[in-house]
Amino acid sequence: MNSQPDRPLLIASGNTNKHREISQALNLSGSRLLTPRDLEADRGPAPDPQENGATLLENAIIKASEFSRWSGLMSLADDTGLFVDALDGDPGIYSARYAGENATFADNIEKLLEQLAEKEGASRAAHFSCVLALCDGDEVILSVEGRCQGIITESPRGEGGFGYDPIFLPQGAELTFSQMAPEEKNRISHRGLAVQQFSQLYGAAISEGEKS
Ligand code: IMP
Repeated sequence: MNSQPDRPLLIASGNTNKHREISQALNLSGSRLLTPRDLEADRGPAPDPQENGATLLENAIIKASEFSRWSGLMSLADDTGLFVDALDGDPGIYSARYAGENATFADNIEKLLEQLAEKEGASRAAHFSCVLALCDGDEVILSVEGRCQGIITESPRGEGGFGYDPIFLPQGAELTFSQMAPEEKNRISHRGLAVQQFSQLYGAAISEGEKS
């Protein structure tokens, strides 16, 4: 990896929760970890890539490479989905818009529970998957996947979190993601695991770069 230690990294997302989570895990100073907003004054509006890949990895690469070309920096993007066994992996890559283009989290949950209710007696097993991709222009420098196995509850439980959190009960847990403290969710979640894995690989690559 062409890891010049001082070269900043751009997060290919405007989501401040993701910025916080990634910057904590990577332990990089503000000058080495940038967000699109940091560059918009110089570079113009940030891109809004079409996530039309067939997999989470393809979508993460589409975002990371487009932000990298825009910024001239290495860029890190993520893509996440919930995969339900009895629904042949749906909503999967369509998790954000399962109940339609402008669906709310509540709409998506309602549709998912309805679809599962139609499969009486079927398994409620599911997993979240989060893929992170780091690109330098069109080159994919590294990618990792974090998974969290669990089951879909019969009805929503808890107020915290976002997305499908109220109906996702991680394997071995008694609380849904929504009912957990954010630190507890981060410790076991798909995104938490992906970011931890990425941070180890990126940290190792950076210290290699510092030695050479
Ligand atoms: P994104 O790729 O991170 O934007 O995630 C796509 C969709 O997956 C979101 O709109 C949420 O509906 C769902 N999602 C992603 N991460 C989580 C999570 O940690 N908990 C619950 N739902 C999530």
